[in-house]
Amino acid sequence: MDLVLKCAQFPQPGETIAANSFNEVSGGKGANQAVSAARAGAQVKMVGRVGDDAFAGRLVAGLKQCEVDCSTVLATQDCESGLALILVEESGQNTIVTVAGANARLLPADIDSLRNLIQQSDVVLLQLEVPLETVRRVIEIARETETRVILDPAPIPQGLPDELLQVDLICPNEREAEQLTGMPIGTPEQIEAAAKALYQRGAKHVVITLGKQGAYLFDESGGRLIAPFTTDVVDTTAAGDAFAGALAVYWAEGMNVDDAVRRGNAAGAIAASRLGAQPSIGARSEIEHLWKT
Ligand code: ADP
Repeated sequence: MDLVLKCAQFPQPGETIAANSFNEVSGGKGANQAVSAARAGAQVKMVGRVGDDAFAGRLVAGLKQCEVDCSTVLATQDCESGLALILVEESGQNTIVTVAGANARLLPADIDSLRNLIQQSDVVLLQLEVPLETVRRVIEIARETETRVILDPAPIPQGLPDELLQVDLICPNEREAEQLTGMPIGTPEQIEAAAKALYQRGAKHVVITLGKQGAYLFDESGGRLIAPFTTDVVDTTAAGDAFAGALAVYWAEGMNVDDAVRRGNAAGAIAASRLGAQPSIGARSEIEHLWKT
């Protein structure tokens, strides 16, 4: 749950200030991406944990409203739900403090009981807001079958083992690609070099999202830019999550990866054109409409 406080200026250490507004907004990369996949037309099951606080019910209800199946969202006793306290200054700059809460309690043992679900799914879409050993267990189970694995490697932890990059597709944004490779990303040559480096570390397809410039795809056929859709930007929050969810759905349906990434670009552009996280994510009909323009 994102707790968003708008204030004139960030408080100094020890200072108390009054906020101009407060909003509670359902968030989390996994939840946002689940909503995106559902809006893109997939049957989606969210796997995760919520706490035993008042936020838990609201987080699950919000997902259910978006047609996301929450039967595999587990309640955690004596624990708070994952939270982000977000201060937004009038300048637009933000400062964020997160609490992993119940997210940190999603353990490999929870995943073992979902073996059939994982292996019967067309695609599993992973993020790094839960423990790395849990992510690793999902990848191991999915690898035994044809289930495709997509990893949005965010947020980047200290020392991400290469093993976790050895999936069907990874989709970092520019900053994450820089952190993962230690290589600067600015020029087209630098983007290609970083994408190639990640491909050589074992990801079968690497997609670096480039904001309004679209996305760069690198795989066994080499590297190419996948063109963006132009839009009037209102708020880019959740653009990357909208991108990942839509890409996962179209690719799992059998579309070639270039066109699936471009559908992701359409979903990202739609999310960037609207305010908020989950409410800004467009429906499949909107993605198809933009595609035809
Ligand atoms: P993140 O939100 O993770 O930082 P990006 O900003 O790269 O990720 O956005 C993800 C995708 O959303 C981009 O690859 C692009 O397709 C689309 N997108 C984001 N911002 C814009 C924009 N200003 N105009 C058009 N498309 C955008």
